[in-house]
Amino acid sequence: MHRFTDKVAIVTGAAQGIGAATALRLAAEGASVAVLDRSCTDETVAQITAAGGVALGYVCDVTDRTSVQTTFDATASDLGHPHILVNNAGITRDDLFFRLSEDDWSTVLSVNLTGAYHCAQVAQKFMVAQRYGKIVSLSSRSALGNRGQANYAAAKAGIQGLTATLAIELGPYNVNVNAVAPGYIATAMTAATADRVGMTAEDHQTMVAERTPLGRVGQPEEVAAVIAFLASDEASYVSGQTLYVNGGAR
Ligand code: NDP
Repeated sequence: MHRFTDKVAIVTGAAQGIGAATALRLAAEGASVAVLDRSCTDETVAQITAAGGVALGYVCDVTDRTSVQTTFDATASDLGHPHILVNNAGITRDDLFFRLSEDDWSTVLSVNLTGAYHCAQVAQKFMVAQRYGKIVSLSSRSALGNRGQANYAAAKAGIQGLTATLAIELGPYNVNVNAVAPGYIATAMTAATADRVGMTAEDHQTMVAERTPLGRVGQPEEVAAVIAFLASDEASYVSGQTLYVNGGAR
C-alpha cells in the first residue's frame, strides 16, 4: 500500500514506541514525516531514511505552545503544510488517588491532553486553509477507568471528548478527527509500569496476556497500522470516533 504519497505527516513523541512505529509506517507508505519529540529523534529518522523514506527530526515539547508553533512552522517550510497530525506524545505518573500529587495530576494533563490541544490548534490552521486534514490522537483503554491512573484516565477520556468536538467543528473543512485507544502495548511506557510494581517486563506482559482475549499484549506496529488507516482516505467517512486496539479486552 502507498496511501500517503505527497502527504506530510507530523507525529509527536516519535522518538520511540508507538510514535516511532507510526512515523515508520506513514513514511513507508509515502508520507514525508516530521518526527517530533522532546528528546533526540535521530534513531527514528535514521530508520526511515535507511528504508528509503523521507523524514526530518525536530525537538518539540508539546506542553509549550511557543515550541509547538515554532516547530510546526518549521516543518511546514521544510516539508510542506501538514496533512496528517498524530498526537502521540504521552506520559504516565501513576499513584493511588488519595495521594496523587497536584504536580503529577497537572503534568499528565499537560502532556497528554493540553499537548494535543496545542498541536491540533496549530495544525488545524493549515488543514482548514487547504480543506484537507487528518488528526489522530492517542487515547487509552484507561479512559474507561484504571486503578492508580486517575490523572492519565482523565487525560485520555479528555482526548475522546476533544476528538468528538473537533470532528464537529472541523468536519465542514474536510478534516477528519479520530482517536485510537490502545490496551497494553509493549513499549518503554509499559516496561516502566512493570518496574514500578516490581515485575520484569516479561512477567508483567505474561500477566496481562492471561486476561486478554487474544492471549497476548500488543505491539507498537499493531497500533500504527490502525492510526495509518484512520489517517488515510480509506477512512474518509470516519470522524469523531475512538477505536479501541486492545486485543478484545472489555
Ligand atoms: P513511550 O513512553 O514509549 O513514548 C512516548 C514518547 O513521548 C517518548 O519519546 C517521550 O519522551 C515523548 N514525550 C513525553 N512527553 C513529551 C512532551 N512533552 N513533548 C514531546 N514528546 C514527549 O510511550 P508509548 O509509545 O507507549 O505511548 C505512546 C502514546 O500511546 C502515549 O500517548 C500513551 O499514553 C499512549 N498509550 C500507550 C499504551 C501502551 O500500552 N504503551 C496504551 C494506551 C495508550 P521521553 O522519553 O523523554 O518522556
